[in-house]
Amino acid sequence: MNLSRSIAFALSLCMSVAVGAAEPTKPATAPAAVQAPAKSPAQSPFLAYEQSLLAFTHADVVDGTGAPIRRDQTLLIENGKIRALGASGRIAIPKDATVIDARGKTLLPGLVMMHEHMFYPTGHGNYSEMVYSFPALYLAGGVTTLRTAGAMLPYADLNMRAQIQAGAIAGPDMDVTAPLLNGPGLAVLAVKVVNGADDAERAVSYWADESVDSYKAYMHIRRDELQRIIEVAHRRSRKVTAHLCSVTFAEASAMGIDNLEHGFAFASDFVTDKQADTCPASITRSLADLDVDAPRMHELIDLLVARKVAITSTLPVFETLIARRPKVPEAALSMLLPEVREQYEAGWASMQTKPADWEWARLFPKLGRWEKRFVDAGGLLLAGTDPTGYGGVIPGYASKRQIQLMVEAGFSFEEAVRVASLNGARYLGRDASIGSLEVGKRADVVMIDGDPTRDASAIERMPLVFKEGKGYKTDAIFEAMKGKVGLH
Ligand SMILES: [Zn+2]
Repeated sequence: MNLSRSIAFALSLCMSVAVGAAEPTKPATAPAAVQAPAKSPAQSPFLAYEQSLLAFTHADVVDGTGAPIRRDQTLLIENGKIRALGASGRIAIPKDATVIDARGKTLLPGLVMMHEHMFYPTGHGNYSEMVYSFPALYLAGGVTTLRTAGAMLPYADLNMRAQIQAGAIAGPDMDVTAPLLNGPGLAVLAVKVVNGADDAERAVSYWADESVDSYKAYMHIRRDELQRIIEVAHRRSRKVTAHLCSVTFAEASAMGIDNLEHGFAFASDFVTDKQADTCPASITRSLADLDVDAPRMHELIDLLVARKVAITSTLPVFETLIARRPKVPEAALSMLLPEVREQYEAGWASMQTKPADWEWARLFPKLGRWEKRFVDAGGLLLAGTDPTGYGGVIPGYASKRQIQLMVEAGFSFEEAVRVASLNGARYLGRDASIGSLEVGKRADVVMIDGDPTRDASAIERMPLVFKEGKGYKTDAIFEAMKGKVGLH
């Protein structure tokens, strides 16, 4: 395997995106989706709780709004919704409720993650759809709603969305993003090459008719094409995100783009000899050389905040590019097919030989700082993981890592959870029903063993994830998915 070539693919592919403006995404009406049985036994091996009335007692609660952790709370779930939440002793527990003693546990809202592909890198520029393993693994990582941020096998994503909705597959609610919209220059054979603004419009319209929820433009998209993508998507009440390169953040924000992916890692605004509509090779170096407090970056941040462009943080995929960072845990690696684990191990070994002053190593610590500054300036930051690169971003684990890396970058644990839950719900226009632990919202609840506000590593111990009041045993999911990632 030509590793540097495959890593170049990974970098170009992994970090893609485009999302639209402020209006909520119109709920898609899926035409002619694969018919799913009303309730499938496929979920049952993973289910621990199906009772309609559940009470968590003596729990510590991080509610997803950014508020500080509250101690000794009772959370009551009835018919898939949160019926009551308050200090234990002040919440009456109905006699027929199933009681879960949550002493020593912390409850979080189900995560709303925004860069969660259903494909995974299997080598030679190929990205295979994980139709079987990924939905359950995302759920086991606390994710109850996700955006795919770009599809390789769009009909698989669309039908998966329908089957999850029907209860036939255990997995998060999906915002399905259309296939990547890229200009010429990407060496990934599965990706369409957009040929002009009219062609871009044709693709956007086609996928709207096929009921996608959102769009993502990619590195080599040009200004006239991106402008048209945004116009047509907005006309169809859908948002656009982008992993940019040929177009700068300032240019895309002036067009009304809704979201930009990968924090500031693909802002080509600071490349001195930047040619219009061309993806410069020196983008990483330009950012690695930029002072973390550079006024020009502050100006760009303020511009994006003023234009209401959301930013998606995807720190786990960048962490895999740096030497002397923690390796992916063995439990996560045990999910991989042996051949793709070999690919990961080779990529990991290669990264350990990179010098400390390599551009990605110099850029990585700044990414989190800029994201924090963006939030402090009033920007809407979203969280994602991006399971690409050379395979070190593994659903079920990477969502937890994203929160830990935000804490490392200076966010409080509670703020990091808000970014990974309520902020995503707001962006999707679904914050009235999901994104935080509040009375009347859907009972999407993650149980952590321990206090992650004292030690963010506690989030790795996540025995139960509830979606719409149904509790899934994460260890059963992980056991079932051993060796499957990379295969199906
Ligand atoms: Zn991506």
